[in-house]
Amino acid sequence: MNKPQSNAAAAEEFLPKDVQAQLKEVFRPLPHDIPVYLFSRKGEDEAEIQIGRSLMAALQLVSDKIKFKEYDLSHKQAKKWGVDRSPTLVFAPEKYSIKYLGLPLGEEGRTLIETLILIGLGRSQLNDQAGKVMAGINEPRKVRVFVSPSCPYCPQQAVNAVKAAIEKPGLVAVEIVDTNYNADLAERYQAFSVPQTWANEVLIARGAQSQELFVSSLERMEEQTYFIPDSDAPRVEADLVIIGGGPAGLSAGIYAARSGLKTVIVERANLGGQVALTPIVENYPGVKRIAGKDLVDIMAAHALQYVRIFPREPVMEIKPGQPLELVTSLRRFSARALLLATGASHKRLGVTGESRWAGRGVSYCSTCDGPLFKGKKVALVGGGNSAVTEALHLYHLGVVVTLIHRRDALRAQEHLVQDLFDKKIPVLWNTEVKAIRGREKVTGIEIYNNQTKTTETLPVDGLFVSIGYTPEVELAEKIGLELTGDGYIKHDGMHRTNIPGVYSAGDVEGGYKQIVVAAGAGAAAAMTIFEDLTHPYWKEARPPGRP
Ligand code: NAP
Repeated sequence: MNKPQSNAAAAEEFLPKDVQAQLKEVFRPLPHDIPVYLFSRKGEDEAEIQIGRSLMAALQLVSDKIKFKEYDLSHKQAKKWGVDRSPTLVFAPEKYSIKYLGLPLGEEGRTLIETLILIGLGRSQLNDQAGKVMAGINEPRKVRVFVSPSCPYCPQQAVNAVKAAIEKPGLVAVEIVDTNYNADLAERYQAFSVPQTWANEVLIARGAQSQELFVSSLERMEEQTYFIPDSDAPRVEADLVIIGGGPAGLSAGIYAARSGLKTVIVERANLGGQVALTPIVENYPGVKRIAGKDLVDIMAAHALQYVRIFPREPVMEIKPGQPLELVTSLRRFSARALLLATGASHKRLGVTGESRWAGRGVSYCSTCDGPLFKGKKVALVGGGNSAVTEALHLYHLGVVVTLIHRRDALRAQEHLVQDLFDKKIPVLWNTEVKAIRGREKVTGIEIYNNQTKTTETLPVDGLFVSIGYTPEVELAEKIGLELTGDGYIKHDGMHRTNIPGVYSAGDVEGGYKQIVVAAGAGAAAAMTIFEDLTHPYWKEARPPGRP
């Protein structure tokens, strides 16, 4: 007979010793108890509920402030706190209205930990700008955030909602809906992309937002994309501001700071750019095989040793000059140089129905949304490395995926193509998607065979689009940077743009879009910037050969 595991051993399964030690330090000073209740229906999801139970037991070893209790769904407390789904976690219900519908596993572990800390603290920790907007909300808001455990952006949005509930306990009620356990709710709201946020039955945001944009959307009850901070917002002075927290920006940050430049990185979303959403990376030197998100976490941890990073702060304005001025949704920066490492975003197909059904069956992120289609039939358009990597990822998730490619040969690397064929993932060759049809959500796509010149409707529950990227040049255009004919930032080969003191690096410059190339470009740009700030070429006679 196996010896029963001690609580400490069980805890270590979830939280390695060093993480336990860190968490103990974080929880120790928290002034308030943190009551958590797990409701479940007897006989349902037993194995997973046992995992949730063990996770909570592990957390209780970290802090005795966490008071955990379990109830059957039929218990009178369920009615009292409005719980009707199994499993559901309820947090400090005597003070707040915060529920997690499902079990916060995978990426959602971050939501759980942050929620516990905020409750223990008894404060929302909203920044000043967001707090001012929240002060203007005087009507009740019932917020639902749809999340999935494999979505790296979801905890950001879920925690935004938790903060709002703690800031205005009488007015804001929050349900974080784990779509793994609540497919019917996702279906009812047609929430086929995550995170997706609803308030009082109105869709107020698709994707993760900064705190300020989240509370502004909550106040106005529609998605807000612009936020200018007060003029007394905090000021940061630096030698170099880097916009973009992907591999190019992070690597530039490390190089610039190590050469002695006071450097900061601002990023509108979470760190990592496209890599954070790449299921698996197998060609970054020194790392055989790693989830994109894990690779980014390693890079970000490294960069943080040298530079201040301001994630979730979209840049609103840039005024070039010496010094140049930059305004994000939270603060103002002044700096001697600016590096644009803004990367690229998903290219859209541009067919009928694409916008209408975005988030309702049309997706650009298999890592985030793939689990919502488990057991369902989807098509995936594209023929490059991303498309094949994502088709394989969907296949491994148990999604019934068909690849659709407009030619008769894939552009992806041989190694990936072979894997696709080995898994017998069907490919529709010489086929173009012409329209996306739906009724409340995607029901099918119109496909055209460009050899036989025939059109037919393919019934599918979802369409994943993976047809490459377009450079993120909105800010570059705003300040008058010259672009190449293909729409990338034009530079002199040493990452200098046409505006003195403004530089570029990574996918926004075009060329090979590989993580290692972007990281290399970031390093090279940082070295050019260091040289230029030491000997500003715009103040001196130009050396021969320099534009
Ligand atoms: P990509 O290499 O540019 O491939 C885009 C694919 O989409 C091509 O097959 C293209 O067809 C197809 N396509 C483009 N526009 C289309 C449209 N309007 N309708 C239908 N199909 C369309 O893009 P990617 O696969 O996203 O990769 C981007 C970059 O990241 C590449 O440099 C890639 O090597 C890199 N990447 C590398 C890895 C890896 O090394 N493991 C993984 C992911 C991405 P055609 O072939 O007919 O042009």
